[in-house]
Amino acid sequence: MGRGREWMEDVRDVFFKAFSKDYNNIKQLFNTMNDGVLITNHHQEIIAVNAAFQKITGYSLSEIYKKTPRILQSGKTKRAVFEEMWKSLIEKGTWTGELINKRKNGEEFYSYITITHVKKDEPEQSYFIGIMRDITETKQVMQTISYLAYHDQLTHLPNRTYFTRQVNEQIEQAMRSGKKLAILFIDLDRFNNVNDTLGHTAGDELLTKVANRLSVFFEDRAVISRYGGDEFCLLVPNVETKKEVYQLTEELIESFAKPFEVCGKKLYMTTSIGISFYPDHGADAHTLIKNANIAMYRSKHEFRNNYQEYHVSMDEGATERLQLENELYEALAKEQFEIFYQLQVDTENNKPYGVEALVRWNHPEKGLLSPAMFLGVAEETGLIRYIDEWVLRSAAKRAKQWHDLGLTELVISVNISQQLFERKEFVNIVKDVLNETKLDPTKLCIEITESAAVVDVISAIEKLKQLKKMGIKISLDDFGTGYSSLSQLKSFPLDVIKIDQSFVRGLLKEQESEAIIRLIVAMARDLNYSVICEGVETDSQKEFIQKVGCHYMQGYLFSKPVRDIECEKIMFDMMR
Ligand code: C2E
Ligand code: MG
Ligand code: MG
Repeated sequence: MGRGREWMEDVRDVFFKAFSKDYNNIKQLFNTMNDGVLITNHHQEIIAVNAAFQKITGYSLSEIYKKTPRILQSGKTKRAVFEEMWKSLIEKGTWTGELINKRKNGEEFYSYITITHVKKDEPEQSYFIGIMRDITETKQVMQTISYLAYHDQLTHLPNRTYFTRQVNEQIEQAMRSGKKLAILFIDLDRFNNVNDTLGHTAGDELLTKVANRLSVFFEDRAVISRYGGDEFCLLVPNVETKKEVYQLTEELIESFAKPFEVCGKKLYMTTSIGISFYPDHGADAHTLIKNANIAMYRSKHEFRNNYQEYHVSMDEGATERLQLENELYEALAKEQFEIFYQLQVDTENNKPYGVEALVRWNHPEKGLLSPAMFLGVAEETGLIRYIDEWVLRSAAKRAKQWHDLGLTELVISVNISQQLFERKEFVNIVKDVLNETKLDPTKLCIEITESAAVVDVISAIEKLKQLKKMGIKISLDDFGTGYSSLSQLKSFPLDVIKIDQSFVRGLLKEQESEAIIRLIVAMARDLNYSVICEGVETDSQKEFIQKVGCHYMQGYLFSKPVRDIECEKIMFDMMR
């Protein structure tokens, strides 16, 4: 070792004496500086290194003397970097840049290097000086910072910033290749319900699972990002035909049919998807994403669990929707809602059996709006549950008054959205309403739809049982339009099944409708459920329904939904 050291110093001395006028100063600097210094001769053979170099690389001079600096190469630096380095050295005599190098122990490290070619009249006396700094730590910190800046912490997917940048890059490529690219804007339907009812941890878990499912589904076919809350935005590059994107989207929707396992529960989620294409719907990331978002809203509004491609005509709808959303917030505060009541008739004696409360919005400019005009927006904004609570309370109060007036057996039916039904405190809300209004619980019927029941089946059944224990009736609305089969219904403690009006409408036109109604009635009777047929408009429909043994009927034939005063009059007239 001793000999090695002397020898090394010899070499350095030779070097400094040969090339430096201010020999002592430079020698001291060389030995004490923190940056590694490496000097090669004209043939790029290493002839001197300093202590810092040895510290950084692990090599002592004796180990690498007369070897080329290539021994430091890791193979990770791009060839283009070396090409640029040599070009710059030849043209300007110097180069500064980053190289990924390798230490003696094999570890890779990032170095920030300046190489200078010191030219002499005698080419043989020219040499290269490289000054390197180990920037591995800085680099790692920078990588972490950039990861944090460009990724979502929960799902580890790229975030909005990174995604937008990727879209712009891919647009440039698409411009060159002449291919299309597609943006898919994906929003989970009724995600807030999960947060509200199972808590934020469950919501987070669900989002992570959705992110995983998307990643597995698309593999390398798309760039997937978490765009916001429950929104995911995807970029599908190299699209030849729109049809392939439609197909991919359909398969994606199908892949959501499988439930997500969250907090030990099976959750069924659906998505609404909007699609925009480059170049058809925009030439920059901002426009394409905005238009895919507009298409997503349209899809959510009209279909749910489906997809829509953007079209310019959707822009107008989007602005209108936003306005409606704002007005809806005020509507509750300003008490602009009103309840209409629709009669339900007993098939056996043609007397009133009950009334269904149906909400209306007295819009200050647009007049009376039916639920179809605003319930979609009310659901998206979460306002629906306040509307429902208001309807429940007001309708219960009205029903109690009717009981007191002598219509003692009248059943009041109230529609309950999935959002309200899923709230933990739902059963307590109903209890409170009953206490306040003194309504007989056996005269209250809660109408839910299948979607309210299937998201979290176990707690749905639990709630229904509690309600039943209180004497409340449970009715399954719009039966026949969703997924559930009668056999599945057995596990739900129901009292009433409401056959959807589409079947009644199909009566006498399609044999299928007849057969379905017969079947539902027969099976419901087997399970001890009552059956209400909705949408009865004609006498012949009424006759059929009476014939097959439906218990109750509801429809324009008897009465449209009307204001309470009018409904009261109709009922008393019928009682005579
Ligand atoms: P639904 O619960 O199935 O109510 C029956 C709908 O069918 C009502 O529409 C009613 O006006 C209509 N209808 C009744 N008989 C006939 C008929 O003979 N022919 C035709 N063509 N239609 C008939 P409406 O009032 O527009 O309500 C639509 C839906 O909005 C309701 O369907 C219900 O799902 C929902 N909804 C209404 N009020 C509320 C509410 O307070 N809360 C919640 N969550 N949903 C509500
Ligand atoms: Mg209903
Ligand atoms: Mg219905």
